[in-house]
Amino acid sequence: MSIQDILTKPTFTKSDLVTLLSAEGEERKALFAKAAEVKEQFVGNKVYYRGLIEFSNLCGKNCYYCGIRAGNKDTHRYEVTEEEVLEAARYAWENRFGSLVIQAGERSGANFVNRIEDLVRKIKQMSNGELGITLSLGEQTEETYRRWFEAGAHRYLLRIEVSNPALYHQYHPKDRTHDYQERLNALYLLRKVGYQVGSGVMIGLPFQTMEDLADDLLFFREHDIDMVGMGPYIEHEHTPMYAHKDRLMSKSERFYLSLKMVAALRIMMKDINIAATTAMQALDPMGREKSIRVGANIIMPNLTPSRYREDYLLYEDKPCTDEDAEECKRCLEARIHMAGGKIGYGEWGDSKHFYKRNKDEKS
Ligand code: SAH
Ligand code: SF4
Repeated sequence: MSIQDILTKPTFTKSDLVTLLSAEGEERKALFAKAAEVKEQFVGNKVYYRGLIEFSNLCGKNCYYCGIRAGNKDTHRYEVTEEEVLEAARYAWENRFGSLVIQAGERSGANFVNRIEDLVRKIKQMSNGELGITLSLGEQTEETYRRWFEAGAHRYLLRIEVSNPALYHQYHPKDRTHDYQERLNALYLLRKVGYQVGSGVMIGLPFQTMEDLADDLLFFREHDIDMVGMGPYIEHEHTPMYAHKDRLMSKSERFYLSLKMVAALRIMMKDINIAATTAMQALDPMGREKSIRVGANIIMPNLTPSRYREDYLLYEDKPCTDEDAEECKRCLEARIHMAGGKIGYGEWGDSKHFYKRNKDEKS
């Protein structure tokens, strides 16, 4: 079946998706054009900001791909102070960013759980409840998720990383803290507690096939995910996965494959939120703008205080580690305008999909 035929179908099969993800040249252009059209029609051209605070690079886990894994002894560990978090939150609020994301390595101790709960409360108080808060702090118990939700967080990002359980176990140590079923279960718990649920995957991992990526897209649909953040896998020297670096696609191939993933997902799940991720920009200076053109509608300007940025290195060549918030904001504004987008200042920009599902369930 031709790409044009596939693009007119109401739902894609796995084999359709493999074809779409393999498209090159004119066919790839047709995929991108269709995605841009769907985006315009269902979510419009607004791009919503989530000011990103990389709260801490302390992590209890050992994912084989990640630069801040516990086993990387070359990383200088930090935690942002409360004053600095509140200062960044105030900046976001005064600049009408609408929302914040607090992201960190995964920890489960009582101190950590309490600190996050306290910070969420304080950010809400400081902003008269106006700043929306997304958390991305890994797998936690239902009780922890509930406490953070009750404190005021309303969205949560937890990437499944790869939806194929066999690959998942290949990329993680074989123990209870790195268990595919547990991660999947965490997504159910988040939904149960009431969060808008975000997930995502890495694209272009060693041993990952087009079929695996097609399955990743079907996973988002099957689990009715509200928001997706996905981007290219980028190697990091001080990780076990670096041993497979010779198997990787070129950075440009990984980048375009990621763009095709974004475009195909926008066509499949028309009203969800899709992020233009930082990893896209790491591989292409215009990576986030290109993502916006083919379907993304969320961007996360980095508000981590500059002195910590060099230490939150999940992967090589992470961009914007030497900019402050003001520079980052100006740069992004210009970039979003260039990509034909408009910034949704002062709005939460929640997932339309989430509200639609809740409405459908009530009626
Ligand atoms: N610890 C939390 C959140 C921080 S990590 C968690 O794991 O959920 C955030 C994301 O960074 C991960 O979900 C992973 O998809 C991404 N990441 C880690 N290492 C990466 C790499 N080498 N290349 C690209 N993305 C990476
Ligand atoms: Fe820790 Fe998240 Fe990195 Fe895994 S991906 S090592 S949980 S920060």
